[in-house]
Amino acid sequence: MVPSAFDFHRAGSVDEAIELLGRLPDAKLLAGGHSLIPMMKLRLAQPGAVIDIGRIQELSGVCRDGDVVSVGALTRHGEIAASEELRASCPLLAEAAGKIGDPAVRNRGTLGGNIAHADPASDLPAVLIAVGAVVHLAGPEGRRQVAARDFFVDLLTTALDPAEVITRVDFPVAAPGTGQAYLKHEHPASGYAVVGAAASVTLSGGRCTAASLAFNGISAVPHAADEVVSGLVGGTLDDASLASVSSLLSVRDPLGDVHASGEYRVELARVYGRRALASARDRASG
Ligand SMILES: Cc1cc2nc3c(=O)[nH]c(=O)nc-3n(C[C@H](O)[C@H](O)[C@H](O)COP(=O)(O)OP(=O)(O)OC[C@H]3O[C@@H](n4cnc5c(N)ncnc54)[C@H](O)[C@@H]3O)c2cc1C
Repeated sequence: MVPSAFDFHRAGSVDEAIELLGRLPDAKLLAGGHSLIPMMKLRLAQPGAVIDIGRIQELSGVCRDGDVVSVGALTRHGEIAASEELRASCPLLAEAAGKIGDPAVRNRGTLGGNIAHADPASDLPAVLIAVGAVVHLAGPEGRRQVAARDFFVDLLTTALDPAEVITRVDFPVAAPGTGQAYLKHEHPASGYAVVGAAASVTLSGGRCTAASLAFNGISAVPHAADEVVSGLVGGTLDDASLASVSSLLSVRDPLGDVHASGEYRVELARVYGRRALASARDRASG
């Protein structure tokens, strides 16, 4: 469990991190280290250089501007879970971050590292999809934005170019009458999601005006369950309708591994999806 040899650099700014990424062959950014270091110890990753971005102040923090709340890439899971601003404006993100791993993981792991690693068992990717978040990237060609739905492209693979840094993620502030919920069936040892369901529901006059649902754990990339929620708008979201739409979940090529088969994960997702939608509905009406 000893990593192969690597050079260590510390970047003091985003520009310096980009310059180092461009100059050093096979370099990797280091944020909280809770995915990269285990990968290096197992020699699944053998970067020639590690660039520590952990002290770049501009990458950290939560800031609301109108209908958007921005979360810096270096913001730790524990800070997100405890943020009063996020609990009010994007409760789904705060709830999911509070369910990651254990206190040690939440005190080191970061939003940017979590989504850059793009582990299908991670908790935050489905949250980004469910709320329609936008990922901000900086690289040698300048800055760009990628919608969450386009960011996750395959297993452990994102739209991030190796020369780019995630700077922040923008989350829309939940509209009045919105309830959100994140539920997961977690692995008992690591806390990772075998299946995680992220739901957001908006009610007006007792009827649904908007609904979204996304899952972690059932496919290589987070699954946006549009087929489940498309029929919900206009309805009252009673338990019977939620039970019937949950059965519509359809996943091409579900993920199966030593922890759970693909069929079992999809069955779990139907149950957790229904429960997450019901919980979001109850919060929206409460
Ligand atoms: C025991 C244990 C349990 C865990 N349980 C859970 C869990 O239940 N749910 C969950 O979601 N996660 C879990 N995790 C993972 C945890 O959330 C990690 O912290 C996270 O996945 C990676 O974030 P990090 O800041 O540690 O990134 P690092 O490990 O530092 O980096 C991970 C990858 O992201 C890249 N990267 C980091 N920051 C940036 C950036 N700003 N721009 C571009 N690339 C970047 C790195 O180069 C690297 O490739 C667990 C980890 C451990 C060790």
